[in-house]
Amino acid sequence: MNTTPNDVTNTDIAIVGGGMAGACLALLLAHHCPEQRVTLLERHPLPDSGAALNLPSFDTRATAIAAGSLRIFDELGLWPQLREFAAPIRRVQVTDRGHSLGASLDAAREAAASFDGMLGAVVENAALGPLLYRALAGTRTEILAPAEVTGVTMTAAGAALALANRSEPLHTKLLVVADGVGSPLCRQLGIASEEVDYHQEALVTTVGLQKDHAGVAFERFTDTGPMALLPLPRRDGIHRAALVWTCEREDRARLESLPEAEFIQHLQRAFGWRAGRILRAGRVQGYPLKLSLAREQVRRGLALVGNCAHFLHPVAGQGFNLTLRDCEALALAIARNGEKDGTHERQTGPGELDLLQAYWRERQHDQQLTIGFSDRIPPLFASQSLLVGGLRQAGLLALALAPTLRAAFARQAAGLAL
Ligand SMILES: Cc1cc2nc3c(=O)[nH]c(=O)nc-3n(C[C@H](O)[C@H](O)[C@H](O)COP(=O)(O)OP(=O)(O)OC[C@H]3O[C@@H](n4cnc5c(N)ncnc54)[C@H](O)[C@@H]3O)c2cc1C
Repeated sequence: MNTTPNDVTNTDIAIVGGGMAGACLALLLAHHCPEQRVTLLERHPLPDSGAALNLPSFDTRATAIAAGSLRIFDELGLWPQLREFAAPIRRVQVTDRGHSLGASLDAAREAAASFDGMLGAVVENAALGPLLYRALAGTRTEILAPAEVTGVTMTAAGAALALANRSEPLHTKLLVVADGVGSPLCRQLGIASEEVDYHQEALVTTVGLQKDHAGVAFERFTDTGPMALLPLPRRDGIHRAALVWTCEREDRARLESLPEAEFIQHLQRAFGWRAGRILRAGRVQGYPLKLSLAREQVRRGLALVGNCAHFLHPVAGQGFNLTLRDCEALALAIARNGEKDGTHERQTGPGELDLLQAYWRERQHDQQLTIGFSDRIPPLFASQSLLVGGLRQAGLLALALAPTLRAAFARQAAGLAL
């Protein structure tokens, strides 16, 4: 692992947080602006190359990576390695429990919203982490780990970071905060968040299926909220899928503690038989559901990316995909600015306010669309009201019948609706 000693005192760009957001931003910066000195700080220790990473981002979850994001990984040269442990999504099937009407999106039919014949791919986070860090080891990124940032002071030149167990601060022209939801650094900087508590939990586990999922991702709407069953690659001859099951907060402990056979019974009843018989269920992990949006994402010398900027409902599978698009846009904005510096048109650095505001303006439209998509769809489908149920069925009918609407939905879900 490319872990450098803690003697770095100056850098161009310091990224605090080595989760999915921080690691991907570091890769995109190395690709688009190799002239920038980038330092990634992660408070957890990082193991040697290839070993599992003990970081929150790379736990037992799986992530649906949209076609638009696969294109970004392809540009970074990572798609050949990623596809070895990714399960392609060839079709998305949306159904509403208790109603026969459903809608489906097909990679073959929605060619503009697909990549390499797929609408997206599902990867297990535990496998994604080592891949990202192996790729980072091949770049000039300085990785400080374990390195916990305990305080930040904004300065005329950028920011000074205080680190645990180190007396020397780290000076940076641009500080990128990527320390996750409920960020203490954002609180310290006086950046508040707007929060909507959905009063629900997402139960996440891996299930074993009797039959092959054939690349179908199932989105199922039930009385308690949406469920997603995402295809995973076969392991040891077992057909596998990743489950995200929304439940009421008070039901979490009960469902989590059920013996496997009883959990499967409940799950099969709630999900139905579209994916066939569910044979196995792994350890169930719960995540509280909320929407959290930072009130500011850029200031002079400062940018926020990932969960600390926007934390979304996970069922629509948009959070990481949106973050990856933000990170690409930020890296490109810094690269464009660097070119101007090169021609001596202006002498600026990556923390310049104009650059960061231009980045933020560019991202606003996509963020608003994606956040709206993730925030409105799950509650709509969780409602038991007859009126909302009728609207939901009308929506599914429209999706089933109208090619333009279906294509727009597919493009949004695939991370291409820009
Ligand atoms: C159940 C669930 C399912 C999901 N499924 C999908 C999906 O299918 N598709 C999708 O697009 N998105 C999905 N998401 C969203 C996705 O997981 C997030 O976008 C992703 O986790 C972003 O992580 P992050 O790097 O911003 O934050 P984190 O994962 O929280 O990482 C923050 C990092 O910062 C480090 N850190 C914190 N404070 C400090 C400090 N002071 N100093 C140094 N380091 C620090 C932490 O140790 C951590 O490693 C899902 C989310 C959930 C909860």
